[in-house]
Amino acid sequence: MNIFEQTKNRLNISDVVNYYGVQLNRSNFACCPFHAERTASFKVYPNAYKCFGCGASGDAISFVMKLFSLTGINAVKKLNTDFSLNLPFETYQSAPKLDRTNVLKFEAWEQWACNTVAEYLKQLDEWKRNYAPKTTDDNLHPLFAEALNKIEYWDHIYKTVFIEGDFTIKTEFYQTHRKAVDALDTTRKVRSA
Ligand SMILES: [Zn+2]
Repeated sequence: MNIFEQTKNRLNISDVVNYYGVQLNRSNFACCPFHAERTASFKVYPNAYKCFGCGASGDAISFVMKLFSLTGINAVKKLNTDFSLNLPFETYQSAPKLDRTNVLKFEAWEQWACNTVAEYLKQLDEWKRNYAPKTTDDNLHPLFAEALNKIEYWDHIYKTVFIEGDFTIKTEFYQTHRKAVDALDTTRKVRSA
């Protein structure tokens, strides 16, 4: 489980929004902290929030990102500090250096993996837009829930590893997280089949 998932597992989103000043009523509605309103249209679900006024939606991590203008990983760090979670942050440094054969394997994988993550993010973005609840009585569509719960982590990986990562970061990620990316591709194929 990655640090984003571990953080969310340890927290209740209602406690998170409450901690940062959003008071929910008995039906889990509050006045939205992201736009000015007098009637409560910000709703909290078990692992997500959605505002029916301004359309903002996300999970506990994206709530903190948006509220404090933070990147995903910095929102995770803030939650870890504010809620004293003491979760260990990943470093990829323990991975051994790749030998020549594995460098070739890595190079063959890298472009494919980068595309796969980019495609998955595009997919999540579509789900987030297309499967959002339309009325306050709708239940959360599982694809909308998946989008809200995965988007920040994979966006973080895409930027820090595939776009900004140097050779060391990329090869260490390859050794420790390759399967997570390979699994994405399988999931997408099954779903779109
Ligand atoms: Zn709003």
